[in-house]
Amino acid sequence: MLSIMSIAENLHSIENGLQGTAARLVAVTKTHPPEVLREAYDAGARVFGENKVQEMVAKWEVLPKDIEWHLIGHLQSNKVKYIAPFVSLIHSVDSLKLLKEIDRQAEKAGRVIDCLLQVYIAMEETKFGLSMEEAEELLLSDELASLEHIRIVGLMGMASNTDSEEQVRAEFRSLKQFFDRMKVSLPVRANCQLYELSMGMSGDYPLAVAEGSTLIRVGSAIFGAR
Ligand SMILES: *Cc1c(COP(=O)(O)O)cnc(C)c1O
Repeated sequence: MLSIMSIAENLHSIENGLQGTAARLVAVTKTHPPEVLREAYDAGARVFGENKVQEMVAKWEVLPKDIEWHLIGHLQSNKVKYIAPFVSLIHSVDSLKLLKEIDRQAEKAGRVIDCLLQVYIAMEETKFGLSMEEAEELLLSDELASLEHIRIVGLMGMASNTDSEEQVRAEFRSLKQFFDRMKVSLPVRANCQLYELSMGMSGDYPLAVAEGSTLIRVGSAIFGAR
């Protein structure tokens, strides 16, 4: 079915489905060449998600400058410098060490970079992300309070890759509950205001939106299988 629908049709049908909800679409363009991103851009997409630094930089260089670039994949500290001049949102912050490096590179670039803490919610073993306890500890830490070139604007999570709708829904719900709890319990700080909740991909975004997602990260449902 996807093959007979165009990128524009897929984008518009997903965006129509988001009307009246709190969620915005991040079009996940990883592995696709710039021509494909240009097609999505011409259809109105302005927020693109990439999971590799080099790939994102290469595309940023050749595409229009009004695109918002979101880094959604694991980020190594030594690569932050390449994206600091232009990245709009980093979804995958999973340590204070990484946050400090983002702060350092953002200062060099004369910017403040928005970040999400990646929290693991899936039952399956994952290498990346913080537990809720670790995320809470980071959010409350004095060291975070001293960083002036980053802003924590929310949380990101990935549900289990399972056919069980109930399990996926429960995982999204647990992240939304944690998000709501942190929102009210955090001390007021200029660099930490939680309003973005990045959850939902091609296979599960309707559930994520129903559970309160504000950013869905959708690739294959727009661009086809990778
Ligand atoms: C690839 C990727 C997505 C998009 O996955 P699809 O199933 O193609 O929609 C979303 N989030 C992250 C972190 C990804 O790496």
